[in-house]
Amino acid sequence: MISVFGSANMDLVAYVSQAPRRGETVTGHRFRTVPGGKGANQAIAAARAGGEVAFLGAVGDDGFGAEMRVTLADAGVDVRGLRQVPGPSGIAHIVVDDSGGNSIIVVPGANGTVTGPSGSDLAAIASSQALLLQLELPMEAVAGAAQAARVSAVHVYLTPAPAQPLPAELLEAVTTIVPNEHEAAAITGVSTPDGALDALLELVPEAVITLGSEGALYGARSGERHRVPAVKVNAVDTTAAGDTFVGALAVARSEGMAVPRALEFASAAAALSVQREGASTSMPSRRDIEDTLT
Ligand code: ADP
Repeated sequence: MISVFGSANMDLVAYVSQAPRRGETVTGHRFRTVPGGKGANQAIAAARAGGEVAFLGAVGDDGFGAEMRVTLADAGVDVRGLRQVPGPSGIAHIVVDDSGGNSIIVVPGANGTVTGPSGSDLAAIASSQALLLQLELPMEAVAGAAQAARVSAVHVYLTPAPAQPLPAELLEAVTTIVPNEHEAAAITGVSTPDGALDALLELVPEAVITLGSEGALYGARSGERHRVPAVKVNAVDTTAAGDTFVGALAVARSEGMAVPRALEFASAAAALSVQREGASTSMPSRRDIEDTLT
C-alpha cells in the first residue's frame, strides 16, 4: 500500500481577459471548480497508475469537502483516513488571464488544522511500502509523518513544494526527494541541475529533479545516475505534471520495477497528463501508461 499524507484543495478557477485591479470588477468568460491540492493529486495519480492507495488528510464540513471525498473515492483511493473537520475546506482561488498568466490565492482551511498524523494515520503509515509527502500541510505535521515512516523503514518520497526551508527532522526521514528544477535550485542554491543533484544527495539518499519538457535527472548516493527524456507530446496544461510523475514513480518502485524502468513509467504518465486539462482530471490510467511504453 502507498499512503499519501497531504493536502486536499478545491481549485476555483476564473478565466478573464485581464485580472481585476483593486476596486475593479470584471466579467469573466469561464469558471470551473477542479479538485486539487498536491496530496490529493498524488493520491489520484498513484491510484490511477495501478497502486493501492490510502489518502490521509482533512477536508472541511462544506460541499467542497464532500466533493473531494467523492473524487478521491471514485479514483479508487481509500478515504477512510480523510477526516472531516469543522469549517471550510482548503481552496485555491485562481485567476487566469487571456495571456495565460495566473494569480493564485491559497487558503489552507482544513489542511491547516492538521498538526500531525493521528493514531490511525500512524497505523496506515507503518503498514505502507511508501509514504508520499508534500509541503501544503503544516511543517510539523509533515515532519511527524516522515518520522513515523522512518521508524517503520517505509520509503518516503518528498515533493518539496511550495519551496521552503527543510528542517533536519524532515530531511533525516526522507528517502527520495523529488523537486522540479526551480525547487531544487531554491533548496540547494545551485542553479545547474547536475550540481543541484549532487547537493541534494548530501541531504538525502536519493533524488529526482524533474525538468519539465526536458525530462528528469535521477541520482543516488550509491553512485547510480540516470537521465530520462520527456516523452515528446503537445502539452496543453502542465498543472500537476510533477504530482503525476511522483505518484506513478512510487507505484512502479513499490512493484519492484528497476529504477530506469520506473523512471520511464513515471515520465510516460506525466506526459499523458500534460496532454489533458486540469489536475485530478488529467491523470492517466495504468492501461494508458502501458500503451505508451510498449
Ligand atoms: P512540476 O509540475 O512539479 O513543475 P515539471 O514541470 O518538472 O514538474 O514536470 C514533471 C514531469 O512531467 C517532467 O519530468 C516530465 O516527465 C513531465 N512533463 C512536464 N512537462 C512536459 C512536457 N511539456 N512534455 C512532456 N512531458 C512533460
